[in-house]
Amino acid sequence: MNRQQEFVLRTVEDRDVRFIRLWFSDVLGQLKSVAIVPAELEGAFGEGIGFDGSSVEGFSRVFESDMVLRPDPSTFSLLPWRGESEPTGRMFCDIYSPDGHPAASDARNVLRRTMDRAGERGFTFYVHPEIEFYLFESGELGGRPPVPVDTAGYFDHVNGGTANDFRRTAVQTLEAMGISVEFSHHEAGPGQNEIDLRYADGLTMADNVMTFRALVKEVALQQGVYASFMPKPLADRPGNGMHTHMSLFEGESNAFYEPAGEYQLSQTGRRFVAGLLRHAAEISAVTNQYVNSYKRIWTGHEAPSYICWGHRNRSALIRVPQYKSGKSSSARIEYRGIDSSANPYLAYSVMLAAGLKGIEEGYELPEEAEDNVWTLSDNERRAMGIEALPASLDEALARMEDSELVAETLGEEVFDFFLRNKREEWNDYRAQVTEYELGRHFTAP
Ligand code: GLU
Ligand code: MG
Ligand code: MG
Repeated sequence: MNRQQEFVLRTVEDRDVRFIRLWFSDVLGQLKSVAIVPAELEGAFGEGIGFDGSSVEGFSRVFESDMVLRPDPSTFSLLPWRGESEPTGRMFCDIYSPDGHPAASDARNVLRRTMDRAGERGFTFYVHPEIEFYLFESGELGGRPPVPVDTAGYFDHVNGGTANDFRRTAVQTLEAMGISVEFSHHEAGPGQNEIDLRYADGLTMADNVMTFRALVKEVALQQGVYASFMPKPLADRPGNGMHTHMSLFEGESNAFYEPAGEYQLSQTGRRFVAGLLRHAAEISAVTNQYVNSYKRIWTGHEAPSYICWGHRNRSALIRVPQYKSGKSSSARIEYRGIDSSANPYLAYSVMLAAGLKGIEEGYELPEEAEDNVWTLSDNERRAMGIEALPASLDEALARMEDSELVAETLGEEVFDFFLRNKREEWNDYRAQVTEYELGRHFTAP
């Protein structure tokens, strides 16, 4: 038993914790949970907790279905929404095969592996996300479009109102779980909100995003509303982006910071951006994993459609934000493609791998696009070397299928499962006859 494990055991005893939830993610980023009682905890830290992986999306083939959960004691926290007396704790788990190898299908392990690769080059990967989501009146749709809880817009102050109470409680609850918040505000869509988390290393942040989505849904339910992270829930309103700020540190120093560089971005930072740009189309199925994701990407409202970078340009896929003078640690780049429904473990893995590739191969950063790329014609964009993001999940999958980078990063098992699962999603979608088509073509000759 190591010190962190002892600490968890002691806390469970001191606080009279009655249940400990073991959390993990399936391959698509759906949170899974199994509760154990305190008496099981020592065994969970020792030999782990066995479960049937064949029933979890993407985990294992039926003939090798036994898998083992090993809780990571550094992630122990109480769940504030379960109450103060006889509280419930939770830990994220790593998944192993019965013979003691990390499971190939464990998304958390995919990210660990990718961060270790960065570590071999002396880099620690830091991330902070801006997470957008909508608050709707109900989770039951009954065939009608969702109804937002208010009609407010970007940064609006709403007197009273669901969104204020909601954000206040959500932020307090996040802080109570040790997840620091930088900003929270009303976003541009009616009922749309954004909460920005303070930076942390990639693995901690991926856990935080999983916690965040569960917590936000929980707080919303308590307030009688429904939170949705769906990429594009309302056709004519902004989608839910999860803009992700990234940096690499070498020890205490920010490897993206160079006082003499353009926008104070170092050579390493420029190459990282170049890597993300070059591989953006092939990682898109992972950062934007649903049919619906491409409806966000292709309908404006400040979602990026074209593969370019800029400094102030908010239509660009990657932004190099204004550097705050005197604070070299804040030098970073912002990837604006990813949406709020992504599996953070896999998305961070492919984004980091793309950036690292740029560093390893010494990619040159193309010129920045300061124009609003939306107003250019296709020919003008082509002349500037600006490509488009995939137009659909179908196209994104075709790009992913050909990608060595994504195959290597995810590993064969996750790569194959993901493609198979997403092909099914596309085929299902393709078979639909929608209201739009009936309205448009029913009476056509
Ligand atoms: N909601 C927009 C998106 O889908 C982003 C708006 C913003 O710049 O924060 O990416
Ligand atoms: Mg935003
Ligand atoms: Mg942003």
